[in-house]
Amino acid sequence: MSTAKWHTRELKDENCTADLVVVGGGLAGVCCAITAAREGLQVLLVQDRPVLGGNASSEVRLWILGATSHMGNNNRWSREGGVVDEILVENLWRNPEGNPVILDAILLEKVVVEKNIRLLLNTAVDSVSVDESRMEINSACAFCSQNQTAYTLRAPFFCDASGDGILGFLSGASFHMGAEGFAEFGEKLAPPQPTNDLLGHSLYFYSRDTGRPVKYVAPSFAMADIGSFPRFRQLGTSDSGCKLWWLEYGGHLDTVAQTEEIKWELWKIAYGVWNHIKNSGKYPEAENLTLEWMGMIPGKRESRRFIGDYMLTQQDIVEQRLHADAVSFGGWAMDLHPPRGVYSFEPACTQWHSRGVYQIPFRCMYSREIRNLFLTGRLISASHIAFGSTRVMATCAHNGQAVGVAAALCVGNQCAPRDLASGELLERLQQHLLRTGQYIPGISSHAQDNLARSAKVTASSERRLDRFMPNGETIPLDEPNAMLLPLNAGEVPVFYLICDVEEGTILTARLMQSSKPGNYIPEVLLDECSVDVAKGYHQEVALQFGARLDRADYVFLMLQATPGISIHISSERITGVLRLVHGMNASVAKSAVQSPPDDSGIDSFPFWLPERRPKGKNLAIRIDPPVAAYRAEQVTNGVNRPCLTTNVWVAAQGDEFPTLRLDWSEPQTIRELHLAFDTDFDHPLESVLMTHPERVAPFCVKHVRVLDDAQRCVAEMSDNHQSKCKLNFQPPLSTSSLNIEVIETHGAPAAIFGVACYG
Ligand SMILES: Cc1cc2nc3c(=O)[nH]c(=O)nc-3n(C[C@H](O)[C@H](O)[C@H](O)COP(=O)(O)OP(=O)(O)OC[C@H]3O[C@@H](n4cnc5c(N)ncnc54)[C@H](O)[C@@H]3O)c2cc1C
Repeated sequence: MSTAKWHTRELKDENCTADLVVVGGGLAGVCCAITAAREGLQVLLVQDRPVLGGNASSEVRLWILGATSHMGNNNRWSREGGVVDEILVENLWRNPEGNPVILDAILLEKVVVEKNIRLLLNTAVDSVSVDESRMEINSACAFCSQNQTAYTLRAPFFCDASGDGILGFLSGASFHMGAEGFAEFGEKLAPPQPTNDLLGHSLYFYSRDTGRPVKYVAPSFAMADIGSFPRFRQLGTSDSGCKLWWLEYGGHLDTVAQTEEIKWELWKIAYGVWNHIKNSGKYPEAENLTLEWMGMIPGKRESRRFIGDYMLTQQDIVEQRLHADAVSFGGWAMDLHPPRGVYSFEPACTQWHSRGVYQIPFRCMYSREIRNLFLTGRLISASHIAFGSTRVMATCAHNGQAVGVAAALCVGNQCAPRDLASGELLERLQQHLLRTGQYIPGISSHAQDNLARSAKVTASSERRLDRFMPNGETIPLDEPNAMLLPLNAGEVPVFYLICDVEEGTILTARLMQSSKPGNYIPEVLLDECSVDVAKGYHQEVALQFGARLDRADYVFLMLQATPGISIHISSERITGVLRLVHGMNASVAKSAVQSPPDDSGIDSFPFWLPERRPKGKNLAIRIDPPVAAYRAEQVTNGVNRPCLTTNVWVAAQGDEFPTLRLDWSEPQTIRELHLAFDTDFDHPLESVLMTHPERVAPFCVKHVRVLDDAQRCVAEMSDNHQSKCKLNFQPPLSTSSLNIEVIETHGAPAAIFGVACYG
């Protein structure tokens, strides 16, 4: 053997600096990174896997959901705004079939087009260095197995969007893992004593019909007898992807340290299930099916939850508590699962909804100890019970957007995240978030630098809510039906329906309102009327109520179930009006009235749900006097979705050149014009598996032209499908008026939610 000195080698290393390091490329990290980059920060986005999206990626294949809750609760028009909306609307446009591989590419594209983001894929953070005197993270180290490079990542601010909280854990930030006991926050859904119980992992598969018989030989590790878990009887051959969410396991284990062990158990279960489908003889319809895809990375629901200056609890959600530092919102149910998943005899989940959406405060989005550490995604500061609701991806992503803007403010003002939680910086954070498309319930945009606010806004015409013309179709009134209508303060108009009546009877209608402004539950009876209707077809029936409204609000015009009557419906759809039925969406509820156990701290209320297009047609109705629900001035009221009123301008029917006009007394210098369109915030836009009837919401403006005070066309966009459009003027425009002409929509009448101009 040679005596020459042995030379070991070192891997390539690289030092990277940025304004913000975001660890974790799930939806939360992606939306945070994109937002921060658009605010001008240099961002390093570090993702340990080959694609972005985390649980939404083609590696796991969960559909992105949030407050809309599959349209299965009372949260109307509650889809999250901003970057996650942009992603979901783009996914609808390119991928209404819900192919997860297409979504991967959309997410990658959205990130790589941002020049301020450096994306490190296949790169895992595995250590941090902390300045203990300042309680700040100095740097994080990461390794990419593909290029064998070790990275040192430095920035004044870090965001942990890694799900398991690698930055928070390594830096010593405090966290909870397991369910808090009742005494901790007084949550009535919490167990009496703290437990180690978590929500488990799940793993999915997809199958495909090959058109000819396919034999299947299972791997030897597949579970031989799937009878060992109680719910195997629920299996159907059409189940794949998210529909197999209940193939869950491991919430009683350490979901970080034992995650590989949990995955092997899930593989055993999932291959066992497929073997059962193919070879038990009980599913002849599976003869031609092949196993198209098996998840390789389990979807992880819960591990560490970090502690910020505030911890969101059950009461915040149920009572819809207001927070001065609200920057985001949630609306998914508190959705809790038994820790042993498939091996449990308990129901696979319990889902308790609040009456409406709830605010999420900024104080949940940074570590209480580590001064420069932001938190986003499922690891934010929330109790186990509240996490049951905040954990869904669109909520995580919306929180990520809040952190992206907050990081930019921290860099610009050289301050810590905590400094943004109150005072003038908080106001700036909220107002700037609204400008980026974020929706914060209860907070409207009133930015001083929005020049549109000082303009006189008029329009070529304004639609009034006067009638929905019948299309010849009827629906039997075997079930109660309601129209959710935006009314103004004052006397309630008379409503006229068109009915087909088989035998003379009495039709009873109620006018109801929600007890809390901004919610959509028929709780308060305003008035009731009963009308004798004689046998006959196509007869107009007047519903007259004595009620007065003391404020503009949505009201429910509710028709009691009356066998023998059919009501005519309309094919016309318009922003901010929906027909609702009393019912249950089995994906998110177990009955049409939420019926919680006694003393659970959960409210009982009925679900009134819209049906998805192409269903859910409006009742053919005439309203007298018509309601001025679509006034042009609403485009500068600072709310860009229906809430209390429609908040939208809609042109009158028959207006051939719908135009919105802004006039100032003096010329204004305008660099940016922001337009907010209606991509139907009631529609959940599930990202995978579930298909959608359209590639774009019918209410969305397609083609728009902008003219200055010399009637010159200064901007034109002919193929829009997005909710928000930003037009830049370089050189800046100098004009004392703007004409915004809607040349074409995607089907419904021209509608614009918001116009903002910045100098
Ligand atoms: C089975 C199941 C069903 C669910 N159902 C739904 C549903 O229907 N709809 C819904 O919206 N939500 C659903 N959820 C919840 C949701 O998927 C998660 O709560 C959500 O994905 C959390 O988002 P996130 O961005 O925080 O984390 P993730 O989506 O997990 O993303 C975190 C990313 O960080 C990366 N990462 C981790 N560690 C490191 C590291 N050290 N270095 C670099 N990168 C790292 C991970 O690889 C991952 O890509 C479900 C969850 C599960 C498991």
